[in-house]
Amino acid sequence: MKTAIYSTTSEDIGLAAEVIAGGGLVAFPTETVYGLGADAMNPEAVAAVYAAKGRPSDNPMIVHIAEQSDLARLTARITEDMKLLMNAMWPGPLTMVVPKSAQVPDRTTGGLDTVAVRMPDNDVALKLIAMSGCPIAAPSANLSGKPSPTRADDVINDMDGRIEGIIRGEDCQVGIESTVVDMTGDTPVILRPGIITAEQLEEALGKPVEYDKALFGKETDEDFKPKSPGMKYKHYAPEAEMIIVSGSRANVEHEIDRIRELKEAEGLKVGVILFEEDGFEEAAHDLFADLRDMDKAGVDLIVAGALDTDDQRGFAVMNRMIRSAGHNIVKV
Ligand code: AMP
Ligand code: MG
Repeated sequence: MKTAIYSTTSEDIGLAAEVIAGGGLVAFPTETVYGLGADAMNPEAVAAVYAAKGRPSDNPMIVHIAEQSDLARLTARITEDMKLLMNAMWPGPLTMVVPKSAQVPDRTTGGLDTVAVRMPDNDVALKLIAMSGCPIAAPSANLSGKPSPTRADDVINDMDGRIEGIIRGEDCQVGIESTVVDMTGDTPVILRPGIITAEQLEEALGKPVEYDKALFGKETDEDFKPKSPGMKYKHYAPEAEMIIVSGSRANVEHEIDRIRELKEAEGLKVGVILFEEDGFEEAAHDLFADLRDMDKAGVDLIVAGALDTDDQRGFAVMNRMIRSAGHNIVKV
């Protein structure tokens, strides 16, 4: 398949929108990561997304809308809490899991009776959705298992020849995927942490918000039962082996140097990822791009410093980093 590369002019976004409306696949920028979009109401188009990514088909997708009023088509019940969060956070990196309407195909929700919805804070994405005339189902635009793409070139690397088109937009500002919050119970539960924290949701709602217990476990634990099906798959993995070093800053820096010297003496190419101690947003922005750059540079071993998980944004970035490293962590 020849993949068209679109610019962000209205004319080009219009061409991309025609592809989506016709059942084709187009990757597009959002503020979190690039998405691989299809008409969310068209089961064949959604099935093609799974094939293009090489992704298991029980992994539900996030449905992207351009206006709050588009939500009415996707769910039969819009609660006061949902309205509060929409008003406080949309457009933005917050996905709400809500009961699905009969119109939403099972393909889009992986057979669940709930649907995940968000309004992205990116003009190109919003125009594409509006011009397509349909909500757009989109997982991250990477091959299954690889780090999510935060730059157009990363999408081209993974998806060229596999989908109809790619919109070449700017680099994503946030850099990690949206916070996913389950709104189907009395207490909202965060299924996937992101740059929007429980604390911010509590402030908007005036009531407690919890993190899913499974976020504190490992995929290999016997009682690991995430409510977000996507959390159980291998994710975000670079080609290189990766190890995380956790501890006080001085100990971490010392251990990273020690490992680097040791492995370089063995002839390995070593890459280091060490973010500023309180630079959580910068870490979110850079993590996936750094992993991809290190793979491109032919690094054999990536050694990364752990982030402070007492900060909820640090916790969100560590959720990705830990799985990038396949839970390979040393404490110093
Ligand atoms: P991605 O497509 O890579 O952005 O990931 C979407 C995330 O949202 C995955 O972790 C999914 O498991 C989660 N998700 C989507 N729909 C639902 C749903 N109806 N219930 C729970 N989690 C969902
Ligand atoms: Mg993904």
